[in-house]
Amino acid sequence: MKKIFPIIVVLITLSVVGILFIQMSWIKNAFKLKHEEFQREVELSLKQTREALFSRFIYKSRTIVPDEQESRDFFLRNNFIVESNFSKDEVEQIIQRELQQNNVKDSFQFEITNYFKNAVIQSDRFQVADERNLFPMDLAPDDALRSHETLYLYITEDKSAIIREMLWMIIASIVFTSIIVLAFAVTVRTLFNQKKISEIKSDFINNMTHELKTPLATISLAIDALTNEKVIHDADKIKIYSSMIKEENKRMNKQVEKILQAARLEKEEIKLNLQKLDVHQVINKVADNFALQVQEKNGTLTLHLKAPNPIIEADEVHFSNIIFNLLDNALKYSDKVPHIEVETLSSGGVISIKVKDNGIGMNKETQSRIFEKFYRAHTGNIHNVKGFGLGLSYVKAIVEAHNGKIKVESTQGKGSTFTMLLPAGGK
Ligand code: ADP
Repeated sequence: MKKIFPIIVVLITLSVVGILFIQMSWIKNAFKLKHEEFQREVELSLKQTREALFSRFIYKSRTIVPDEQESRDFFLRNNFIVESNFSKDEVEQIIQRELQQNNVKDSFQFEITNYFKNAVIQSDRFQVADERNLFPMDLAPDDALRSHETLYLYITEDKSAIIREMLWMIIASIVFTSIIVLAFAVTVRTLFNQKKISEIKSDFINNMTHELKTPLATISLAIDALTNEKVIHDADKIKIYSSMIKEENKRMNKQVEKILQAARLEKEEIKLNLQKLDVHQVINKVADNFALQVQEKNGTLTLHLKAPNPIIEADEVHFSNIIFNLLDNALKYSDKVPHIEVETLSSGGVISIKVKDNGIGMNKETQSRIFEKFYRAHTGNIHNVKGFGLGLSYVKAIVEAHNGKIKVESTQGKGSTFTMLLPAGGK
């Protein structure tokens, strides 16, 4: 089933290439047909020219040879053009008329040669550039006979006229083919995106099941222990197990809250309850709640709260959440003793908040994608790092809802710095 997708892409690509090829050869064929039609028309004009010349000859020579049969013989015996004094203009007019009758509008030159192949009559500037457009015609009254004279008609074929005639066809081909290619490209891209989304979704579901299963298993074990005869009379142990249940319950709540946050973002339901907020107060509060976790890892969390006027217009709950998410990540994605720093600065109506860690860092590709929903980098040796890949997409959405910006700088193995820029919100 998985193989069907590339097969379809290959088949459609081949078909599109095939259609392009067929169209091109079809247009080429149409060119060829047009050219053949042109040649037929020229040849027909030549025949008619010959007939016209002959009629004119009979008319001119009727005083010398009144009978038509005799005229024919006379005609064959003589260089009739010279004999009967056809002028260059006369011949030119006849050719012009016949060509026009056959719809040949291109410019032409001509020459009439005698028995010795010498030119007896020639249009001005008679010059043959392309032998393929030089049409000879024996000037005998009909095809079965041979005369001494040959008319050479040279047509300067106007290829652009053919192109102009076929222009709508060429344009329509290009437009329709482009539409097919474009529609195909969009379809393939959509298919790839759908595939990516379905992979992301199944990853997410696996992740979520795992995340919720672990606390559930711990709670179940703790409850089993609580019902144990030995434990039931031991107040200290009951305390330990019930606090364990509470902790796991909290953890589960946190996970569910994260999923809900993401779901709310999905529906674009960010309703901000804006109020004047002291950034330093919020950071201090979140940092206090964090202190224990940092201590557990023997790390440090240092605050450099240097912004002189740290007031912004923000939603307290969302703003606390984003500070929490950034600190949580700084702690989670660390393979050594964590040293986390938070720094605030303000200048030109903007407050910047930096969260710096000495964790695992990330490469450029990861940096460019961490704000995407569900994106999680392969965290190398830190296999036990849990998450849904939702935290930073939430942070970005909230920062942007506050008209702010967030960026990341990071070096793999050395650490990362997240910088938020938010508009200062008055005194
Ligand atoms: P989660 O932590 O649930 O995976 P996030 O959206 O918070 O989701 O983070 C997305 C990804 O960005 C993480 O999986 C991780 O690979 C990377 N990341 C986030 N913060 C850091 C950090 N401080 N250091 C290194 N990598 C990080």
